[in-house]
Amino acid sequence: MAEQPLFRRVALIGIGLIGSSMALAMRRHGLAGEIVCAARSEATRATALRLGLVDAAHATAAEAAKGADLIVLATPIGAFGRIAEEIGPVVEAGAIVTDVGSVKAMVLREVGPHLPLNVHLVPGHPVAGTEHSGPEAGFAELFENRWCILTPPEDGDAAALDKVSRLWAAMGAKVEVMTAQHHDLVLAITSHVPHLIAYNIVGTASDLETVTQSEVIKYSAGGFRDFTRIAASDPTMWRDIFLNNREAVLEMLGRFVEDLTALQRAIRWGEGDTLFDLFTRTRAIRRSIVDAGQETPAADFGRRVPGSAE
Ligand code: NAP
Repeated sequence: MAEQPLFRRVALIGIGLIGSSMALAMRRHGLAGEIVCAARSEATRATALRLGLVDAAHATAAEAAKGADLIVLATPIGAFGRIAEEIGPVVEAGAIVTDVGSVKAMVLREVGPHLPLNVHLVPGHPVAGTEHSGPEAGFAELFENRWCILTPPEDGDAAALDKVSRLWAAMGAKVEVMTAQHHDLVLAITSHVPHLIAYNIVGTASDLETVTQSEVIKYSAGGFRDFTRIAASDPTMWRDIFLNNREAVLEMLGRFVEDLTALQRAIRWGEGDTLFDLFTRTRAIRRSIVDAGQETPAADFGRRVPGSAE
């Protein structure tokens, strides 16, 4: 007899890059008996059906969540509170609610209170993505060899945590468990501040008066181009991240600005050793990221076809 899938019915609330990649990975690995989704626009629902990502597409989160044993919040995080309020009354007893949002303390704060006590909340964040959005951007390999961080509440259900861990592991991810607060600090420095720097430098360059736009584009291979890839990320998603991880981002940004001022000073006073020492240290960090399998050493950073070389 064939093995039972891990979940009987999975409801993806939001089916963009992450939701569609989960649907494809869950199908490939036989993890769900049935997959349904919710999206606001008819166009998103039609695309999800056309691509065979889901068995049914609903206009509301409540319709999709009914009868599901796993509900995954995969919209921009600013919508999580309202969605939790909507699904709270219809989620079946014993079901697991998880999410893929890039900020975690806010999930415990804004989703948890709307769920009945017999429903298990296991917040999660797959640290994987591209600068593309929407249901057509997904691919089944997105999570392979990437980390997925789970941040269960202190009194969370151990069996539910184990089941969500098994789901991510089966989709190829490496799973780590930590507190939501720690996650938000770590991601502030590894993801959120780097995005803010990219948005800022691309904004500064496009506002310059003495250097023309066409020069910025023409000579972008000098380094600027790699920032534009990050700065092309979805505006709604990133607005919500900064609004919802304010404290951790401001803390890391404060340190960044202090270090930047020190570099400014080193350049002003011709302190070449300071610059050389830092650049040597940072080069070693790049090497350890490649060694850890989180990047390829190929000299084409930012120009790969998603999934091709990862
Ligand atoms: P996406 O491609 O923009 O897709 C968002 C999905 O949510 C779409 O199906 C959209 O369809 C729906 N949606 C948008 N606003 C909504 C709202 N207010 N209420 C209900 N549905 C809404 O986004 P994504 O890149 O998959 O990101 C989804 C989540 O994953 C975010 O919370 C993000 O923080 C997290 N995440 C993203 C990445 C990444 O690199 N992209 C990585 C890790 C985690 P409709 O517009 O038709 O409703």
